[in-house]
Amino acid sequence: MKITLSTLSRALASATLLNLACMGVLNAQQVSEAIKNQAAELREQALNSELAWDVLESLTTEVGPRLAGSPADAKAVAWGVAKFKELGFDKVWTEPVTIPVWRRIHEKAAIVAPFPQAVTVTALGSSVSTPKGGLMADIVHFASYEALLAAPAGSANGKIVYISNKMERHPSGRGYGKVGPGRFLGAAEAAKKGALGLIIRSVGTDSQRSPHTGMTNYQDGVVKIPAAALSNPDADQLDRILARQQKVTLKLDLLTETAAQTLSYNVIGEITGSERPQKIVAIGGHLDSWDLGTGAVDDGAGIAITVAAAKLIAEQQRPKRTIRVVMFAAEEIGVYGGKQYALDHHSELSNHIIGAESDGGAGSVLALSSNIGQQALPALDAMLALMAPLGIVRSDEVASGSADFGAMVEAGMPAVGLEQDHSEYFDIHHTPDDTLNKVHPEQLAQNVAAWAIFVKIAADWSGRFDR
Ligand SMILES: [Zn+2]
Repeated sequence: MKITLSTLSRALASATLLNLACMGVLNAQQVSEAIKNQAAELREQALNSELAWDVLESLTTEVGPRLAGSPADAKAVAWGVAKFKELGFDKVWTEPVTIPVWRRIHEKAAIVAPFPQAVTVTALGSSVSTPKGGLMADIVHFASYEALLAAPAGSANGKIVYISNKMERHPSGRGYGKVGPGRFLGAAEAAKKGALGLIIRSVGTDSQRSPHTGMTNYQDGVVKIPAAALSNPDADQLDRILARQQKVTLKLDLLTETAAQTLSYNVIGEITGSERPQKIVAIGGHLDSWDLGTGAVDDGAGIAITVAAAKLIAEQQRPKRTIRVVMFAAEEIGVYGGKQYALDHHSELSNHIIGAESDGGAGSVLALSSNIGQQALPALDAMLALMAPLGIVRSDEVASGSADFGAMVEAGMPAVGLEQDHSEYFDIHHTPDDTLNKVHPEQLAQNVAAWAIFVKIAADWSGRFDR
């Protein structure tokens, strides 16, 4: 194992606190046996509970795909309110979030020459349409987004840029950060180099003919060009054709639509604390999904896991601090709900004693990361000890709060991260295959068990998490 400075300082801090605690100085900061016993009981209950599965099955069946700003998004908001009420949350409300509206109408592509054949594509989120009848142009190939960045001005003049690098499969999901910029920023950069359109190899690890969508971000002052992702086997095919002949002509036909801004809503449910109700343990996931699948793993699972953990805790005993579950609006199209939440709740920032979002799919939790003060290490150690039977270890990563709590964590909210196994997540991420049958019930339950431990200790331990 690699010993880092932070591991070392944490170990020293733990040892110091232990010594002080032994002397009776810091007893108040230890997690009591009673809380630990209750958390252990919750762990076993969660492993045998079907609640998260039922919540996820309900959302993905009764609402299905729920692209932010679509009619289904409004249905999802109503579903969230009704689900919180049905489960007996003490307070349930919504908070408006202004969002842009975009939808895909059709998408088609074909290699015109040298070997004519259709290929499978999907428009990237926010992509403009191609000209009526489609855009036909030669391809200019870049091995990566970085190669496109380094290319001279005008090097894509009149062409369709193709970015071809493959995403690495890894439990941490680290490949996403490496190839993601091609999707996030490629269209703007290609346009700066004179391109008429962009296609990328899907940001995903599968071998299916199932292209991965996701946002592309245009830049002010840069012409908006149509942008799409090829499925991985279609990208393989294009790579083989490009290996035979440099001049390859592609026809891309995308029809999309943007409309006036609309309102979506953060949906919030609370279990009111018995002793310090103004103090909040904030958890949640994002309620919106892409339009292609039913958003079972992204992020129906996060909604189901956090709702179920809060409900199981409430059933056992009312928590001392308030547990707030936020179903965030419009994460996929630009983290609108998370940013709005941070603005709306700025005045009660210091009451958010700790927070975490579940937005890594439905794979098992592998590690617990944190972003807390040293004085809170006894609580973290207690969580880790209780999570050990679930196969969860300490992570030295600094918890970011994930996308939706990112702004809150930047503003100072302490956080943990329940880091999930991403080995399979990017096979179906943002594809039509993000459906309920990809979720393993026992892995979903493992998540709920881990979240119940974290939330129970955070809500009932009397110490502070402040950094
Ligand atoms: Zn997500």
